[in-house]
Parts: sequence; structure tokens; C-alpha cells
Amino acid sequence: MTKPKDPWDSPQGRRLKAACFERDRAANAPCCWCGNPIDYRKGPYRRGGDVWAWSPEHIRPRDRWPELVLVASNIAAAHFHCNAARQDRAGLAVMGVRSRRW
Ligand SMILES: [Zn+2]
Repeated sequence: MTKPKDPWDSPQGRRLKAACFERDRAANAPCCWCGNPIDYRKGPYRRGGDVWAWSPEHIRPRDRWPELVLVASNIAAAHFHCNAARQDRAGLAVMGVRSRRW
């Protein structure tokens, strides 16, 4: 094993990505990080492309939930810019969950 394989770089991943893009475009879903609208006319983000284009964000981060990497309900809409900026931080689900009991 060298570096981990990009889960999107597979026939299943590409299908799911396209399906999620269509789902979010139909719903006109805003960015899950900044809450601003996404311009779906830009299409899905491509490497080297417009960083404000749509990109799929894992609600539960894939390093902790590898089994959810290619599950549509675990994919939220995000600007590539916002998605990339938060990549090293805890995922949305972690942020939203209260771990302490008062
Ligand atoms: Zn954003």
C-alpha cells in the first residue's frame, strides 16, 4: 500500500458524486460550512477549477467512518474552498454532537 486511494476515483464513487450533485442542485442546497448559496452552474468542482464550485463534503469524516464514505446520506453540499479549508478539523457530525452531559 502506498497512499490511500481516493474513494471518489472509482466507478461507484463517480456515480455517487454525480448523483449527489444532481440532488443538491435540485434542492439548491447551500454550503454546509458557510451557509452561502452555491452556484450550481459551475458544475462539480474539478481539480484546478473554480474553488467556489460544489464539492461533496463527508458529514461524518471518512477517517473515522470509512464505511460511510460512499453513502449518499453522508454527503453534504459544500464549496470546494470551504471543504478544503476544514479538511483537517473535526467533521460536521462531531461539531454538532454534544458530548458532555450537564
Ligand atoms: Zn462555503
